Amino acid sequence: MFDVVSRFAVGLALGHLLPRLPMMLVTRGKTANARFAPHPAPVRLEPHLTARVLLMRRLWWLVLPASLIPMSFGAASLVSGNAAFGFGLWIASGWTALQRLLTLLNLDVAPIRLETAHRLQTVMDRSAGDEGCCALPEPVWESEAVRCAACRTLLDPMPRPDLGRPRSDRWPARFLRLWVADGHAMLLAEPMSGVVPVPAGNLLGGRP
Ligand SMILES: [Zn+2]
Repeated sequence: MFDVVSRFAVGLALGHLLPRLPMMLVTRGKTANARFAPHPAPVRLEPHLTARVLLMRRLWWLVLPASLIPMSFGAASLVSGNAAFGFGLWIASGWTALQRLLTLLNLDVAPIRLETAHRLQTVMDRSAGDEGCCALPEPVWESEAVRCAACRTLLDPMPRPDLGRPRSDRWPARFLRLWVADGHAMLLAEPMSGVVPVPAGNLLGGRP
């Protein structure tokens, strides 16, 4: 009985993890992140960040087709004998695929959307133009929001999702957090990145 339960549990874990592996691994190399400040430091807004945001969005959606592979292995194991393992694999990867499909009905729950890139671009355009928050605007993406590093003005109250940088915490916490977060912002788990509270009225254009 214990054997059956443990095989089912291993199937469940693998079915949940395998489709997410590309998202958790592809961008974590040092060279791929040379242009970005190391995690958890704020990231400067620039075209490379926008490109990374769009890549992370593609990797997040790649989980949907990737879940079909463990699903078919699970179905094959179910038929060919290792039923407990196959059932676990099939259920977890099927659930993963279903989660992504349900997101199609409400795109607002996806951690990164096209709108995310548009909002970053808007902040960059404002900072480069006459509407800048201060004399030398320096928009950065902190874990809680986009702020100006020079004058601390809140430029966009958008929490920072997983940007594909290698996390600064240790193994296995690093791995587990990436797995559990599934690309979403992890405000509670992020170390503070030097944020100074800014009054609500200071949103866009305020000069503290
Ligand atoms: Zn500023």
